[in-house]
Amino acid sequence: MSKLKPETLCVQAGWTPKNGEPRVLPIYQSTTFKYESSEQMARLFDLQESGYFYTRLQNPTNDYVAAKIAALEGGVAAMLTSSGQAANFYAIFNICQAGDHFVCSSAIYGGTFNLFAVTLKKLGIEVSFVHPDSTEEEIAALFRPNTKLLFGETVSNPSLEVLDIEKFARVAHAQGVPLIVDNTFPTPINCRPFEWGADIIVHSTTKYMDGHATAVGGCIVDSGNFDWSAYPDKYPGLCTPDESYHGVTYTADFGKGAYITKATAQLMRDLGSIQSPMNSFLLNIGLETLHLRMKQHCSNAKQVAEFLQENEKVMWVNYCDLPGNKYYDLAKKYMPNGSCGVISFGLKGGRAKAVEFMDKLKMIAIVTHVADARTCVLHPASHTHRQLTDEQLVEAGVQPDLIRLSVGIENANDIIADIKQALQ
Ligand code: PLP
Repeated sequence: MSKLKPETLCVQAGWTPKNGEPRVLPIYQSTTFKYESSEQMARLFDLQESGYFYTRLQNPTNDYVAAKIAALEGGVAAMLTSSGQAANFYAIFNICQAGDHFVCSSAIYGGTFNLFAVTLKKLGIEVSFVHPDSTEEEIAALFRPNTKLLFGETVSNPSLEVLDIEKFARVAHAQGVPLIVDNTFPTPINCRPFEWGADIIVHSTTKYMDGHATAVGGCIVDSGNFDWSAYPDKYPGLCTPDESYHGVTYTADFGKGAYITKATAQLMRDLGSIQSPMNSFLLNIGLETLHLRMKQHCSNAKQVAEFLQENEKVMWVNYCDLPGNKYYDLAKKYMPNGSCGVISFGLKGGRAKAVEFMDKLKMIAIVTHVADARTCVLHPASHTHRQLTDEQLVEAGVQPDLIRLSVGIENANDIIADIKQALQ
């Protein structure tokens, strides 16, 4: 399947029905699965045989959708989670435990920043943030003997900084750790981080993948490229026997599937943030048109960004597909067909004018969301990032006057007309 083009994978990958089976992916709305022998159930519990037994760990609907996302990203295995937050948490917690440390780009989504800086700290896992534009030496200087991974967002929410994936991958691999990339904003339609050296990809599928603002969800994809067994002391959870599964050693027993199998067998079993089969069904429908929608998001966003750039009431515009943008060259390298539909900008008059402008919009709604079919707007300093101090806001690339505009797939002229009347 993965030799097919992305457009075909969006429609055809994952569920491939056999003779007489439903054409559309069925929703396996069942918590449990029936077996005729107690012996077989025991083998499933010991991971000696693969099969479904309880939806808290795995469900067929989810797995078909995860397989589609794995094919789109060019990975070997994937798992769906109940949210993007859960995906990020699992991606880290699968290889970090109390006493460990990781290095992370400071330009990331506010919820992820809080998860890493506050909640993981309570679990004994420390993070050091580094600006994504730092040199390789500056990033490497933050590594410690207990550092287990490097993390970044392809295009950061909401500051729209573009990660130099190859640079981050070089640093990570020189230090003997994997690079984990949150690829939510470009999606695999616009960027495939594994092709640039990333080892693991996470997504908030809530965004463009679902695309219709119907289902919260997340996904973790493994490239299968990172050689955990080269660092057995660093990754004992993957390289030494798991006594809770009768001595299974994930790297030895599951090869390239080790990371996702461990995340499923241990983290889903114990923490249980599984995506509901109904949500993954909706996600699958969204994925079928992802390639069409991303084109329209990008084309509309470019037109809106150009309009804003020319408007006298606008102080600044940040959109990496605009020539002259600080990240234009990186964007063209990693996302030659366009980045995403999200733009940030500020108005003359600052924070107060931002709030006034948003209240005057008619079609474009103020919602705590981004990256769905309908154009929407948010003021991160007052909403998503309000838990951050001013210092953290600036570190995360969020100016107090920053308006985040998520350009949808309506007609670009209608979007621009609404912005124009609100500015007036
Ligand atoms: N990663 C990015 C880049 C995001 O933008 C978000 C949410 O906005 C998340 C992760 C968290 O995802 P979710 O809201 O699905 O938990």
